[in-house]
Amino acid sequence: MAQDFAANAGASMIGKGNDQMATGPEKTAAKEKLKRLLEREGTGISWADLTMNPWIGCTKVSPACDHCYAEDLATNRLGVTWGPGAPRRRTAPGNWSKPPRWNRIAEEAGERLTVFCASLADWADNAVDDQWRADLAAMIIATPWLTWMLLTKRIGNVRAMLEAMFPDGVPDNLALGVTIANQQEADRDLPRALSVKAGLGIKRLFVSMEPLLGPVDISRYLSAIDLVIVGGESGKDARIMQLDWVRSLRDQTKEAGVPFHFKQWGEWIATAQIGFHGFERCRRVDIAPHAYLRVGVRRSGHTIDGFEHREHFQ
Ligand code: SF4
Repeated sequence: MAQDFAANAGASMIGKGNDQMATGPEKTAAKEKLKRLLEREGTGISWADLTMNPWIGCTKVSPACDHCYAEDLATNRLGVTWGPGAPRRRTAPGNWSKPPRWNRIAEEAGERLTVFCASLADWADNAVDDQWRADLAAMIIATPWLTWMLLTKRIGNVRAMLEAMFPDGVPDNLALGVTIANQQEADRDLPRALSVKAGLGIKRLFVSMEPLLGPVDISRYLSAIDLVIVGGESGKDARIMQLDWVRSLRDQTKEAGVPFHFKQWGEWIATAQIGFHGFERCRRVDIAPHAYLRVGVRRSGHTIDGFEHREHFQ
């Protein structure tokens, strides 16, 4: 059954412009409430404030899915089966009630929040009931203080799904994201993503290159891209993300004036970034012209040549 999120979320926006918002002590209390929300429920994912999974379950469709952490988590800890033919599990009503609450808190504080949808599924998975997607669309419309980052590896499904979800047009608080792991995916999926963006009037398009599995030239597409996120792989079978691939994407985005968000190196990092000292016992792999050490996600960090790149939508 479709849910009426407007009843308890977006309705609070009507007739209440920014100039009528709380001031002084009220504003301070609202900001404090927002801070507590993020401390309590915020995501560890560096490019979003919060994560919402409307459902759980998926099928692998890309080399980027090979070591899917969501599959591991869902099958081993949540009892959700994975793959073609496996039923997707809609999350509980209590989970669906969170975004309207986040929206109210964001509105009171006068600060937009970004929500990654979905970390344990793909919102454009065609194995999911269309009504679930309609319910998600209603929630996105009803929560205008949340910027919904809808990331997919199934860009071919997206145009028809968004047209069905938003017959009156895609709202501005939806950012469409596509995962690109290598050059082949870039040349296959970025033209489709750009076409969907232009055709449906989508305000923001982002590209997630995590895990980055090869050198990729995206320079010819960047004029229509609003954010590029790059990250290496984590987990026991993590593949090496080479230093020159990362530097190249940093430089391409800088040249084009597109925000660049470097999330993490992942398990492996080049010695040219971190040195050898203290890592003598780490596993080493040489891929000319660099040597790479398996130091773990926490120690590899997220700086490139000594600088942090944590930009977001302008
Ligand atoms: S699309 Fe995402 S959630 Fe689905 S299998 Fe691939 S990595 Fe996992």
